[in-house]
Amino acid sequence: MKTVLELKNISKHFNINKGFKNFFSQQKEKFIAVDNVNLKLESKKVLGLVGESGSGKSTCGLMAMRLLNPSNGNIILENKDITTLKNHELKNYRKQMQIIFQDSYSSLNPMMTLAKIVIEPFVIHNLYTFNERQELANELLNKVGLDKTYHNRYPHELSGGERQRVSIARALALKPTILVADEPTSALDVCVKAQVINLLHELQEEMGLSILFISHELNVLRSL
Ligand code: ADP
Ligand code: MG
Repeated sequence: MKTVLELKNISKHFNINKGFKNFFSQQKEKFIAVDNVNLKLESKKVLGLVGESGSGKSTCGLMAMRLLNPSNGNIILENKDITTLKNHELKNYRKQMQIIFQDSYSSLNPMMTLAKIVIEPFVIHNLYTFNERQELANELLNKVGLDKTYHNRYPHELSGGERQRVSIARALALKPTILVADEPTSALDVCVKAQVINLLHELQEEMGLSILFISHELNVLRSL
């Protein structure tokens, strides 16, 4: 089996303020959020990352995406060490991996229509013509089960489950090979939760995605 993403002995320390020592200096304390974690995500598989709240799961996910720099350790993306790549060097790799979060409300721009939201990645990466983008918006929203009547709606006009569908559509726009899903269903009702998990499962098979699925709910992971 081919490994597409590997975290090798990864750690993250945060410096947190413990208040003032005296007028001139603050007391800082090192807080260890992630301590020497190793994981391997294999091609076209789902890997579950489980742990109670505060155990460092999101911190791991953010480091895997290089949205947060590790204090120690390495991030290997398809045999390439991306731990110290600069932002402009990372741009091409960013297309390959996408992340979705629990809180779809704050990760979607409230001023943009759904059609605009899902084609934003094409605008950022300067891909396709205007007409092609409209066509792709249609395709992407269709893929996640949202028909034409949704195109000109705004995030606040949707239910939590529908908003998460939009996040998924946008994350898949650039046809990534890796998806980090950070508790994508934790804020949803039981039955909507199942629908979103089914959707992720279908898309995973259809697109050959490798998914790092973060959750504190073991039953959710089992169903994937
Ligand atoms: P989980 O996703 O498993 O709930 P997190 O990765 O969000 O856990 O957080 C792990 C620990 O690191 C928590 O105790 C959290 O308070 C702490 N933490 C996360 N981000 C920061 C930060 N930027 N500064 C300081 N502490 C942080
Ligand atoms: Mg978290």
